[in-house]
Amino acid sequence: VMCCCSASMAATENMRYKDPKQPLNVRIKDLMKRMTLEEKIGQMTQIERSVASADVMQKYFIGSILSGGGSVPAKEASPETWINMVNEFQKGSLSTRLGIPMIYGIDAVHGNNNVYNATIFPHNVGLGVTRDPVLVKKIGVATALEVRATGINYAFAPCIAVCRDPRWGRCFESYSEDPTIVRAMTELIPGLQGDIPANGRKGVPFVGGQNNVAACAKHYVGDGGTTKGINENNTVISRHGLFSIHMPAYYDSVIKGVATIMISYSSLNGAKMHGDHELVTNFLKNTVKFRGFVISDWQGIDRITDPPHANYTFSILKSVEAGLDMIMVPYNYTEFMDGLTYLVKNNFIPMSRIDDAVRRILRVKFIMGLFENPLADLTMAKYLGIQEHRDLAREAVRKSLVLLKNGKSGDPPLLPLPKKSTKILVSGSHAANIGNQCGGWTIEWHGQSGNITIGTTILSAIKNTVDPKTEVVYQENPTPEFIKSNNFSYAIVVTGEYPYSETAGDSLNLTIPEPGPTTITNVCGALKCVVVLISGRPVVIEPYISKMDALVAAWLPGTEGQGVADVLFGDYGFTGKLARTWFKTVDQLPMNVGDPHYDPLYPFGYGLTTKPV
Ligand code: BGC
Repeated sequence: VMCCCSASMAATENMRYKDPKQPLNVRIKDLMKRMTLEEKIGQMTQIERSVASADVMQKYFIGSILSGGGSVPAKEASPETWINMVNEFQKGSLSTRLGIPMIYGIDAVHGNNNVYNATIFPHNVGLGVTRDPVLVKKIGVATALEVRATGINYAFAPCIAVCRDPRWGRCFESYSEDPTIVRAMTELIPGLQGDIPANGRKGVPFVGGQNNVAACAKHYVGDGGTTKGINENNTVISRHGLFSIHMPAYYDSVIKGVATIMISYSSLNGAKMHGDHELVTNFLKNTVKFRGFVISDWQGIDRITDPPHANYTFSILKSVEAGLDMIMVPYNYTEFMDGLTYLVKNNFIPMSRIDDAVRRILRVKFIMGLFENPLADLTMAKYLGIQEHRDLAREAVRKSLVLLKNGKSGDPPLLPLPKKSTKILVSGSHAANIGNQCGGWTIEWHGQSGNITIGTTILSAIKNTVDPKTEVVYQENPTPEFIKSNNFSYAIVVTGEYPYSETAGDSLNLTIPEPGPTTITNVCGALKCVVVLISGRPVVIEPYISKMDALVAAWLPGTEGQGVADVLFGDYGFTGKLARTWFKTVDQLPMNVGDPHYDPLYPFGYGLTTKPV
């Protein structure tokens, strides 16, 4: 009797991991016991789209693919093209012995920003100004839909860096210098992933369904605290400072069910975060009880040695031992897999560590419903760049603007501007330039000036907003003669920083690049003028401020420039308050709210208001 029972039990127990009615842990356990070391190491490997193919996915059991910044199938590829590409890779994974689906990640850091015609939201530096977590959550919902519109199910967002020094080239990816604001903005996570159910367990990831994507809180931890804001550098901080400034938003992220956490390139008091067993395993996994997976940054493990990749086997050992679960390799995947295999077979890395990594990766994949719905649905393509999302982005732009000056002393306020006048001048390098107003991480990794995607430039927005009888003259960099020979009522100068990302954006002087200062000097010297400053951070403006009648910090507003005109012309009021300290001179840096020698040009929290007309 016993023997026939167990035989039939074996048959029904077969492939329990494929049965969605089984409890999560049963599915994970069932699948894990079937997996070879090779298959497990494959799960831990994330490769770049350009080296991926269905064959590679199948042959190496690859667990994940990413599109690195700007690595797109073709610049103006339709969302359907993306979906078909992702599904092609997925079919490779599904055709393996166990058919474990892969997860596909992309840097959707202000909308699905690598993709032509996606809605581009303001960068985080502007969203922090809104102090509006409900709005940020809605942006998460919209972004998830636009990511799913390209067949992708995983976003490397939010960046919850607390940027303490604007010289950092990634300051625009940070919501604020203030940890409280950054914590509030982790609402992007339930936006992207869906609301964690009431019976959800703390630390266990949650990803709602086919309209949601897995999120990634990054970069753990202290990325925004490096000396002089040098990217990927060293953060020198006390334990107390770390836990009161840079760590708190990670608690919120875990409580909100974040699926993954990305490790920072930076070091903490001289030790690389990619090798930090204490903070990754002991603290994040064991103390905070984070149950999703930890992912490396792009070639982050290579940088454990100096020069990078000098001893790759050591890099693998150090990072996997520290507790990293998935490695963004992203090109030399056979070298990584061979190295890790060697380390396990020779008992440098215990099998229990590999099992912990794979269990976490599978947990996320099961929770996401990937085993039930591995292939992307072509009908999702319709969500890319839809009007509803563009309206939301426009609202975010309106709320992200900070009015820093309104009228020279003794003069009446200049804003809101009248819609009706005879002739106005619009000038500046950023007035008619979608690429400049979107900044880095837009279409290209570093962003790009020019007509790079669909959207409304600030110039078009102004034209849309003024009275039809008002003549709008646009001259990017007008000469004093040109300005004098016309009878302008006033001028709007839109200028600022050009797009950049990561180390390329590090700046020790934080000056506005030319021709910005020349345009400001020429135009504001001759006319009543409002300067709309496009920048990823506070920059040096003290030398020009007296020339301006009004100054608006617009940060990196994204594709919906209409939001700027909505507020300039009084359809809405200015409400934004600085979420960063505006310094006078760079030698004051770093300077954050609460510092003993706080002496800013505009303090944290500053922002004039106007009433809608
Ligand atoms: C960045 C990450 C990003 C990754 C993948 C890295 O260079 O530091 O923020 O998610 O690339 O593109």
